[in-house]
Formats: sequence, C-alpha cells, structure tokens
Amino acid sequence: MRRTDAPSENLFDVLTERGRADATFIETDGGRRLTYAELRSLTGRYANALAAHGVEPGDRVAVQVEKSPEAYCLYLAVLRRGGIYVPLNPAYTVAELRYFLEDAAPAAFVFDPADAAGKAPLAAACGVPACLTLDAAGKGTLAERAAAEDDAFPTAPRGRDDVAAILYTSGTTGRQKGAMLTHGNLASNARALTNLWGFTERDRLLHALPMFHAHGLFIAAHCALLSGSAMLFLARFSAERVAELLPRATAMMGVPTFYTRLLDLPGFGPEACRSVRLFTSGSAPLLAETSRAFAERAGHAVLERYGMTEAVVITSNPLDGERRPGSVGRAIEGVELRVADAEGRPLSRGAVGVLQIRGPAVMKGYWRQPEKTAEAFTADGWFRTGDLGTVAEDGYVTLVGRTSDLVISGGFNVYPKEVELALDALPGVVESAVIGVPHRDLGEAVTAVVVRRDPALDAGRIVGALKARLASYKVPKHVHFVDHLPRNAMGKVLKSALRETYAVEASRPVVPTH
Ligand code: AMP
Repeated sequence: MRRTDAPSENLFDVLTERGRADATFIETDGGRRLTYAELRSLTGRYANALAAHGVEPGDRVAVQVEKSPEAYCLYLAVLRRGGIYVPLNPAYTVAELRYFLEDAAPAAFVFDPADAAGKAPLAAACGVPACLTLDAAGKGTLAERAAAEDDAFPTAPRGRDDVAAILYTSGTTGRQKGAMLTHGNLASNARALTNLWGFTERDRLLHALPMFHAHGLFIAAHCALLSGSAMLFLARFSAERVAELLPRATAMMGVPTFYTRLLDLPGFGPEACRSVRLFTSGSAPLLAETSRAFAERAGHAVLERYGMTEAVVITSNPLDGERRPGSVGRAIEGVELRVADAEGRPLSRGAVGVLQIRGPAVMKGYWRQPEKTAEAFTADGWFRTGDLGTVAEDGYVTLVGRTSDLVISGGFNVYPKEVELALDALPGVVESAVIGVPHRDLGEAVTAVVVRRDPALDAGRIVGALKARLASYKVPKHVHFVDHLPRNAMGKVLKSALRETYAVEASRPVVPTH
C-alpha cells in the first residue's frame, strides 16, 4: 500500500506541468487547435464523466477509437482519474475484441458510435458495466456527458508502481499479453527521452503514428507534453501530407516505412525538411541503405532507436555524436543492458546473444499472467527482451533478429538479418525476409522471401550470388518472390505469417531450387 502522505506521482500531473495555458498542444491536419488550457479543461470534464460512469482508480478503461485530439485527451483523462488505459487497435473486429474485453475486464469501454451495433452487445455479453462513444470529430456520448460536467477535477493520487496503462502485445509468439506500464515507468522514460533528444517548448512534432501503440501514444506524445511543445496531428500517415506539413515541423518520429515512402516521392528533398532538427525511427529495423538514401536526399541522418512495449525506449543513437547506420545506439539513461547465451549466462562484448535489460521503465509484468511474467524475467531481475544482438566495445547495440525468428538449420544458428542484408545488397532486390521452415533433414531450412525490382532475377541467380558471400548453411534452400512483404501497422514484417504460408509449401516434396 502506498502511504497516504507520499506525494502523488500521477503521470497526468508529471506530463501536463509544463505546457503554457495559451500554447498549442495539438493542431490537426484539418486546422482544429487545442491549447494546453483546453487540454486541462477537457480532461477534467472527461475524468468527471468517467467517474460518473463508475470508473474508480485502478479500474481499466478499454478504448477503441480513431486518432483525434479528443482521443488523446481521453487517455490523459483516464490517467487523471487514476484508471488504467487499455488502447485497442481500431482494426480489431468484434470477434477479436472479445478476448481483450474478457481479459482486461474493463469498467468502461469507449468505441466509435458507428460501431455501436456490434460493440455494445459484445460489451454487455462480456459484463462491461459502462459503454461510451467517441468519434474522430470528438462527438459521441462521452462528449455529450462531458459537456454537462465541471471542468475541474482533482487528479487521483497515484504512486510510481501503480499501473497507468495495459498494452497488449504478442511479444514472441502466442496469445496477446497485456504489458502493465506504471506511472513511474512512463514518467522516467519520458524524462530521459525529452532530455536525450533535446525537446523544448519551441518544438513542433509531426505526429503521424497510430495512437494504440507505445510509439505514438507514449514515446512521441510524451516528449511533446513534457516539454510543453505542440504536435501536428495527422490521423494516419500519408507521405504526400507529411511532405507538405514538414516545413511547419521541427521533429518527426516515425517507423522505417515513413522514410522509405518519403523517398519514393519524386520531389522530396531538403526543401521540405528545412525547419526539421530531428527525425527518429524505431519499432522495426531501419535499413542502413534507407539511412544513407535519406541522408543524401533530405540532408538528415535519421536517429534510430530501439524499444518495445514492455520497456518503452531501451537504446538510442545520440542527438549529438555519431548516429551509426545499422545500429540502434547505446542504452539510454537509467537502462542497464547485457547479452546472454541461450542458457542465460552473460556473454562478453561483441558476442551475439539475447539482450537482457534492467531499468526504471521495464514493465511491472503481464496482466493476470504471473507465469508469463516469471518467464520474462531472470532470477536476478533482468528482463529478457527476446531480441538477439551484440554490444560493441563502445556500447553501440546491433540487433540481428528476434529469438523466435532465429533459424536453426542442421544445428547451425542462422541470424536472419545477416542473410537479409546480403540479399538486399544484390542488384535487382528491393527487400527481403528470411525465415526458417520445417525441413526433414535439417530441422529448419533457411527460406528467403524476396521483393524484386528485376523480374529476370530468379532463385538460381540469387542462390549463386549468395554462395560467394555466405557460408553454405546460411544460403537459402528456398526462394519465393512476392510483390510486398506483409507488415503490421508499425511496419514490422509479419514473419509468423510468412512461416505459415511457406511451411505448407515446404512440406510438399522438396524440389531443389539450386
Ligand atoms: P513492440 O512491442 O511492438 O514495440 O515491438 C518491439 C520489438 O520491435 C522489439 O523487441 C524489436 O524486435 C523490434 N524493434 C523495435 N525497434 C527496433 C529497431 N530500431 N530495429 C529493429 N527492431 C526494432
């Protein structure tokens, strides 16, 4: 129990302390503007409305709505009420939603009024006591109820170990797990990043990320809030709109696809980036090739950083100093990082192994899954990230893939990234993904899925070229060609989907491709 005389560490107070009343907090692409004073009054009204609907401190509030300034204020209002925010991807169908509503057992569920016919009965069937609606324009029953409420609301006292949000993540494999992030986790990471990336109230952050993932919800928006600066909100990423809005921005945080799509725009160049001081990339690997192309075209070295739902941002390249293409930089302030072998024994610098971390932003655990939480931590308290990588002598980290993506072929470890880099370097290859598929003799066979620019490039030529560069056990046994790699909303290649597709093919009699 938290002592009642301990100061509150409610993240809402931490985040909103700085913003000047008349300063812009969010401006939308459509020209709607919300000041910090309006943020305070709207979150007060929403918090009163939530309380009136029976939401108590510690209760979960599940939210599946489109991105908007009001939706962001709803997140802040849940914090202010002392509730636990549970964002859900608007793409989830009613059938997919059931699991989250049953698992999170929220006191209230907020969704788009257009979806009420499917979602209200589901919420009732899952025993959710209160339903509210909010659309992309900020309208719905939440707004109606809030309009009648007072805009003053005493922020609920919360301690640093109290849970602020639960974000569902599939982690390695299997059923989605709810990562519990506390007020202390999120405040410490927000402070470290605001410092590290030099945010001040003079910044204008172009925010084109979704709001149901840690990158858009926490990492980007918390830097803006904590520095009292403004965000330009795009409901969804569009390379054309980003290029048009960039001249009004000083910073943009993106996933690698943002940068590859901007590079696909014929007229994109330094002119569009003239006011920008910082571009960051995370959530998926930024190819060194993309970094170099962006530096050439836009005159900016994208700052790559690495994070995960369970620990927010873990490493980052520096604001000043070397931004190393292909590396995710060094552990950020407060984070300890080590590399371990499969048995969990720490390895020396330079060796490839599983990254383990400790620090103030590592989650409290998985919601209602004590056994999964126990598996995720070592006996001495380090969190197993599930990512494979190396740490150089100077502390720069390079990732080589997820443990679950490691291919073990004929007893040898094949790191997909190494093969993907060799494939991507071949003329005529746009991009590639390397997976392991079941194989009778080898256990797993290295399999490449390739997007090619040159239709004449066939499996034989690819395999021939790779044989000159890689040890034979790393050379793909199968090569498949696709138009696009399947990706999720954050730009991550869906390797599990590829494994499913190509495992079927591999179980047919193997016709050697080389
Ligand atoms: P999520 O929990 O959805 O944020 O996914 C976290 C995972 O994304 C990490 O464990 C990494 O595998 C991957 N990831 C995040 N940032 C990077 C990066 N800069 N480069 C490569 N992979 C990344």
